[in-house]
Amino acid sequence: MARTALYPGSFDPPTLGHVDIIRSACNLFDEVVVAIGVHLGKTPLFEAEERAELVRMSLPTAAGSGNTVRVSFFSDLVVEEAKRQGAVALVRGLRDATDFDYEMQMAGMNGVLMPDLTTVFLPASPSTRPITATLVRQIAKMGGDVSSFVPEHVAAALKRRLSAS
Ligand code: ADP
Repeated sequence: MARTALYPGSFDPPTLGHVDIIRSACNLFDEVVVAIGVHLGKTPLFEAEERAELVRMSLPTAAGSGNTVRVSFFSDLVVEEAKRQGAVALVRGLRDATDFDYEMQMAGMNGVLMPDLTTVFLPASPSTRPITATLVRQIAKMGGDVSSFVPEHVAAALKRRLSAS
């Protein structure tokens, strides 16, 4: 039976850190579902469908041959999306102690909500560890060069988005 992992997040926009985690998850699971959170009340820089397209365009670098990566959307609890996708694991990336504290709380509570779902933490690679989507947005908004932090097509999409606004 194929083992599916759910990798949930905002991906606003997808960064090289996210790509790194998708790549690691592909080495561990038969199928990885990148689940894009769509939450009312939050105004993202990129609409959910745009984020999905940016993730899909990043996949050739992220996924090795033979792996399946899909993109999904969810607006409810992560555990509900995990059930819908038939996931056995929830993948989360860890950059630092702040991520660790927050992620341990979430893993604990998700574990109560859905005991069969195991949270798997993947360590950030040294080169992508400092990257956060929030800082990428801020740097791009102030006209900075984000090409070291995101795939090329994401840097181009940020330029287009911010020059249009
Ligand atoms: P961010 O935290 O950058 O705003 P998300 O909310 O989309 O991005 O994060 C989704 C998941 O990806 C979380 O588990 C987060 O810890 C992980 N992640 C984000 N950036 C990185 C990175 N540079 N390296 C490893 N994991 C990361």
